[in-house]
Amino acid sequence: MPVAIYRFARDLRLDDHAGLSAASAHGDIAPFLVIDRELDERLRSSPRRAAYFCRAAAALDAALRERGSALVVRHGEAAAEVTRLAQELKAVAVSWSASYDRSGIAADAELQAAIEERGMRATAVHDSPAIPPEESTAGRSSAGEGYRAFAPYYDVWRELEPGSYEAPLLLSFVRADVGSEPLPQPADFGSESIPASGAASAREKLEAFLRGPALQYSFAVNAPADDLTSHLSADLTFGTIAARTIVRETRKRMDDPFLLSEERSSLRLFLRAIAMRDFFLQLSWYHPQTSGAVLQEKMRDFPFLQSHPHLDAWREGRTGFPLVDAGIRQLRATGWMHPRVRAIAASFLCFDLGVDWRTGVAEWDRYLIEDDPALSVGNWQWIAGVGADLAAYPRIYNPNKQAKRFDPDGSYARRWISELAHGPAGGFSGLHQGSAQIELPLGGAERYPRPVVDHDRAAREFLLRYQEFVTPAGGRRSSR
Ligand SMILES: Cc1cc2nc3c(=O)[nH]c(=O)nc-3n(C[C@H](O)[C@H](O)[C@H](O)COP(=O)(O)OP(=O)(O)OC[C@H]3O[C@@H](n4cnc5c(N)ncnc54)[C@H](O)[C@@H]3O)c2cc1C
Repeated sequence: MPVAIYRFARDLRLDDHAGLSAASAHGDIAPFLVIDRELDERLRSSPRRAAYFCRAAAALDAALRERGSALVVRHGEAAAEVTRLAQELKAVAVSWSASYDRSGIAADAELQAAIEERGMRATAVHDSPAIPPEESTAGRSSAGEGYRAFAPYYDVWRELEPGSYEAPLLLSFVRADVGSEPLPQPADFGSESIPASGAASAREKLEAFLRGPALQYSFAVNAPADDLTSHLSADLTFGTIAARTIVRETRKRMDDPFLLSEERSSLRLFLRAIAMRDFFLQLSWYHPQTSGAVLQEKMRDFPFLQSHPHLDAWREGRTGFPLVDAGIRQLRATGWMHPRVRAIAASFLCFDLGVDWRTGVAEWDRYLIEDDPALSVGNWQWIAGVGADLAAYPRIYNPNKQAKRFDPDGSYARRWISELAHGPAGGFSGLHQGSAQIELPLGGAERYPRPVVDHDRAAREFLLRYQEFVTPAGGRRSSR
């Protein structure tokens, strides 16, 4: 039987795997992990991310060993290492999972050219999204563009059925008798270990979520203190679970005839979140330039600030706005932030401080376990009003009103802001006289910072700058 190399990267599992299924069409699979410079840098930039990746790679290797195979691990430039292994194994084909951000797409093209030059088949497979970009755009006349707005995308997405590659036992792996380096270890990246990661733990997490919390998801997205969203983002990032599996299992859960209508709506909302992920992946696939440039041409030269006297306060969770600060401290402490709070903390950077969304992308990248440039950039641009959200005006969140709505008794803020930890419950309702600051619990107020900006004034000033930019005195900007 010929040998086909499968290059693992952010798809560290065997189950429901579009890439492995494609590789198996060419021969027995030799599993390969290359740590190239790009991956090494991404892992080094966030120690928890590195730890997650190493644990997941070890779990994958263990699963392969149960099948009589093992990961071949090498460090080096991807095209050189893949072609070298291909020569050693006399492989006929190489497959891998496609990337969706600009540098990943360029690296994929380079790898493909290097492999084809040596006369082998090269296949980059859409494994990460539940619905590949080409499937969602198949019915469009302007298919090359993809969707720039979520609503029409979602209308199409929810009618499509994800492919199924659920028969890992049919895959045949070889134990490549070639030199391999040791599996990557968290310490290689200056990182300590973190709790279990890998396909088995991701699967358990999904099952536990669908049994209970998913039925309350509509509440969970608005209740950061409860912490009951799925926490599957890191698993999806490194492909320890397939988005297809999540969609299929969630739809199966919806078949339960005993569900209450709110529970069914919650499951629908959860599926919408997965669709959102697919949406941003296809957006970046069709518009890879958005890795650094804004999607909305008219906003290309908007003068976001590159620095601000209170930028460090935002970075460190010391803005004096409890919801913003709690979110940032949660991120720094755990590598994850609740989805609702992400939007509010990001809005604060872009509008209250007027700072460039790219600063936010880079800052959070140092802490997030997730490693999805396409999702990070898509969301940041959306929040900053320069991306796929085509609203006429940017949506500026009032962090105090949001705190009253989504953390009314302050328990989320108290959990993450040590200065407020011992304040009385309910201490976040009401406003200081004449100030936009939320009332703080006694004791905490002394050490917790006063608000670094007056939100209402900052929002008004931003809107004036925005209006002046899109419609300058004397008429609409001619070049846009
Ligand atoms: C400014 C900003 C930056 C973000 N950066 C990232 C990022 O770097 N990586 C990332 O995975 N998500 C990012 N998100 C999206 C979202 O906040 C996270 O996916 C979510 O917080 C992860 O928690 P969860 O797994 O419990 O999500 P759940 O609410 O349980 O959702 C399930 C899954 O759906 C997907 N999802 C949900 N919302 C979104 C969304 N808005 N965009 C894309 N996918 C979504 C995620 O894969 C998530 O794991 C960002 C959102 C904002 C506002």
